[in-house]
Amino acid sequence: MSKPIPVIIFLGAPGVGKGTQASLLSQNKGIPKVSTGDMLRHAVADDSELGRKVKEIMNDGGLVDDQTMLSVVRDRIRRPDCDNGFILDGYPRNLAQAASLNQALEPYMEMRVFELSVSDEDILKRLAGRRTCPECERIYNVHFQPPQKDELCDFDGKPLIVRKDDREEVVRRRLKTYKKETFPLMDHYRKLGVLNVVNGLQPKEKLAAQIIELL
Ligand code: AMP
Repeated sequence: MSKPIPVIIFLGAPGVGKGTQASLLSQNKGIPKVSTGDMLRHAVADDSELGRKVKEIMNDGGLVDDQTMLSVVRDRIRRPDCDNGFILDGYPRNLAQAASLNQALEPYMEMRVFELSVSDEDILKRLAGRRTCPECERIYNVHFQPPQKDELCDFDGKPLIVRKDDREEVVRRRLKTYKKETFPLMDHYRKLGVLNVVNGLQPKEKLAAQIIELL
C-alpha cells in the first residue's frame, strides 16, 4: 500500500515562529513550504492585481477574504512540487478556510497540525524584535535569533527590515484577529484528532527536532 501524502499545517499566533519551523521542516522533509503571507507579500511587491487588492488589508492587520485565499492556495498546491506533500504556513486562518481546505485535499492526503503555543506577552516581544530579509525572507529576532552582523542578513548581506505589519499597533490588531478567527481552529483540529500542541518558546532547533519526532 502506498504511504499517505503528508499535509502539515502550522498554527499559532503571529510571530510565534511558524515560518521558521515550516522552513526547517521543509528542508528536512524535502517538501515545499506554502506560506500564504509570503505569497501575498510577493504579490504586493510585484504590484500585481492580487497585490493591489490585498495591500491595504495586510497593512491594517486584517484578513484577506476566504475566496481569494482559497484560489491562491489551490493554485499553489496543484503545482507538481507539492505532489509528495507540502507544509502550510498561514493557512487556514479560520473555520471557513479549514472547510475549503478539506474539500481541496485528496483522500490519500494525511493532515497533521502543529499548534505553536506562546503567551501574548512573549508574542509582542518576539514581534517587536523581528527583522526580515527583503531578499530571501529569512527571519531574525534581535533578542532571540540575531544575525551575525548587526541588522544584515547572514545569507545575502542585505539590510534587514521591519515588516509593515510588525509595527506594534498592527501587531495588536493581528493578535485580536487571530484570537477571534483562528483560535477556534484548535478545537476543530483537536476534535479531528490531528492536533499536536508544542511549546513555541523552545529554541528553534529543539522544537524542530520535537516536530520531526512527533511526525
Ligand atoms: P502572515 O505572514 O502569515 O502573518 O500573513 C501576513 C498577512 O497576510 C496577514 O496579516 C493577512 O492580512 C494576510 N494573510 C495571510 N494568510 C492569510 C489567510 N490564510 N487568510 C487571510 N489573510 C491572510
